[in-house]
Amino acid sequence: MTNSFLAANWKLHGDMTWADKITQFDQIIPVSKRGNIDICICPPFPFIAALSAAAKGVNIYTGAQASDPRSSGAHTGQVNAAMVKSAGASYVIAGHSERRAMGECNTDVKSQAEAILTAGLTPILCVGESLETREEGEADNFVSEQLKACWPEPDKGTEVIIAYEPIWAIGTGKVPSSGDIAAMHKTIRDITGPNHRILYGGSVKPANAKEILALKNVNGALVGGASLDMESFAAIASAAP
Ligand code: PEP
Repeated sequence: MTNSFLAANWKLHGDMTWADKITQFDQIIPVSKRGNIDICICPPFPFIAALSAAAKGVNIYTGAQASDPRSSGAHTGQVNAAMVKSAGASYVIAGHSERRAMGECNTDVKSQAEAILTAGLTPILCVGESLETREEGEADNFVSEQLKACWPEPDKGTEVIIAYEPIWAIGTGKVPSSGDIAAMHKTIRDITGPNHRILYGGSVKPANAKEILALKNVNGALVGGASLDMESFAAIASAAP
């Protein structure tokens, strides 16, 4: 069986001292006690190299929160997947709703996912509906179309990790019912087939992690707020089946 996957999205938080958090995590759950779970921390760009160095030996991966699909050029402030790979990252989030809210569209996200794969890294491709779309009963259609529109081509069968993150659940403390999470993960599974892990994201906390992570077709979680505290993040990791 493939390992579960637990990713931390630190967003715009932290400073260089946070590289130590990786060793804090390892003190709470040492490598030997972690079972079948892959852990990935996605810090702001400047901390990736330090975190990746600290992650060596404690079996934790690092990732970036976003990347530019272009290989080089006059694009001030941008960072691409090859650059974060050279800093030690193995994963890159693509299409987080907070990036989509800044103007990234499905075509942009698709190009990012393709460039991430070309660089030899694994995309964590985020999809999810707004509250309005859910209330209109259109969540299933919306997420299916969004996923298909963002799927990297050509499909060489390399893993793409999908994160189902309802926008209205991110940072709000609101979580869909277990039935709704399971139904959406089944919809996504029917599109992707068996070879891609599907994460749930949106207000995952130690208190709800066990129930969510036990659901069929939920292969892990993408965690924002609760990942800033290593005790909470480790508690979520221990809840994985
Ligand atoms: C996220 O930003 O991807 C996220 C899931 O955040 P939170 O866990 O804080 O809802």
